[in-house]
Amino acid sequence: MNALAARIVELIETEGPLSIAQFMGLCLHDPVGGAYGSRDPIGRDFVTAPEISQTFGELCGLWVAQTWHDQGRPDRPRLVELGPGRGTLMADALRAIAAAAPEFLADGEVVLVESSPVLKAMQREKLKTSAADISWCERFDESPGERALFLLANEFFDCLPVRQFVKTQHGWHERMVAVRDGALAFALAPQPANPSLVPSDRAEAPNGGVYEVAPAALALVEEIARTVAVQGGALIVDYGYDEIGFGETLQAVSGHQFAEVLAEPGESDLSAHVDFPALARAARAGGAAAYGPVTQCNFLAELGIGPRAERLMIANPTQARTIAAAVDRLVNPKEMGALFKALALAPKTAPSPPGFC
Ligand code: SAH
Repeated sequence: MNALAARIVELIETEGPLSIAQFMGLCLHDPVGGAYGSRDPIGRDFVTAPEISQTFGELCGLWVAQTWHDQGRPDRPRLVELGPGRGTLMADALRAIAAAAPEFLADGEVVLVESSPVLKAMQREKLKTSAADISWCERFDESPGERALFLLANEFFDCLPVRQFVKTQHGWHERMVAVRDGALAFALAPQPANPSLVPSDRAEAPNGGVYEVAPAALALVEEIARTVAVQGGALIVDYGYDEIGFGETLQAVSGHQFAEVLAEPGESDLSAHVDFPALARAARAGGAAAYGPVTQCNFLAELGIGPRAERLMIANPTQARTIAAAVDRLVNPKEMGALFKALALAPKTAPSPPGFC
């Protein structure tokens, strides 16, 4: 048992079982043993689209520039990225925005929302030569809110904590992390959950079916939508689903392999598939229009990843095969092209954002 597991066992023995969401929060963000809190898991445990190909961040940047342009180029725009990882997406996006819409950066500001001190230091280093006005904060609601908001989030929502409820003969019971024989173990809460916690469209679930919900993600999307509804746009890309399912999707990944969720807390990356229809409903509740989700394959094709990759290959002939293989990984439905999806938020009165026609 590692040190974080021992501390979690002690916590449960004194305070009682933890919800899956509380457990996820500790595994990801504990400052001593958490996967993000204490180190950089990107590359070690998993790899993300901007780390695979520069075209991904560049197209996200062009998406921002075009959305800004389509809405009449509002003054003093604010570009926010949630969970910028190593800063690669933002570096590539800023290069593309500087070429396509230099006024956006001259007049605007960039805010990176990052909870991990380790990753924040990497972002600072990666972006230190950028001419953009860049600042950092730990939570979205700490960033100033008056300006038109353009927001990017890639593989951010999958690491927000989920709660799980399991259907039994006696109603829905929350799935918890408890201690059995001195070790962490899953258990159902003895009392049924308040029925208001489970939406009515889950009533048909079979016994053993799971309802998974990410309350923090829904609240955050609703808050983003309230600002975007006035002016701006948000682009959320992640792996996830677009219809109701009754399975659980919490997963642990360590060294690019699936691992046991409870085995080595903090040593593996914990995440859950994003429930895109639920995010879209939260966006509408916040007053914005929601577009998609569309598959990453279709989204990137619409934005012109093909011609962009060709230009890169012509400019770097010795790298042509590597560039083509990287782009294939992003768009091939057998790789990231179908599992990953894009959802966009925009004001109800604005034109459809690029890639969502
Ligand atoms: N977007 C990047 C990194 C994805 S990993 C990429 O595509 O490569 C998830 C990122 O979100 C990391 O930077 C992590 O530290 C950050 N993060 C996770 N949970 C967070 C939270 N609750 N608040 C702020 N940042 C968070």
